[in-house]
Amino acid sequence: MRRDDLACANCSGPVSEGRCPVCRAARDQYGRGGGGFYAPLWLILAILAALVCALALEARFA
Ligand SMILES: [Zn+2]
Repeated sequence: MRRDDLACANCSGPVSEGRCPVCRAARDQYGRGGGGFYAPLWLILAILAALVCALALEARFA
């Protein structure tokens, strides 16, 4: 589903135009999904696993 096709329940305009606060909130919410700040779960898990491995190695050789 494309974001541009969503109609706002408050002002019944296209959400992508951001005519009212409800539009803008919905647009921000959808926009963050594919944005640069969103880290996928597998990436977080991979970083955590790497940290645990590093700590375990450090504890072994310390
Ligand atoms: Zn609206």
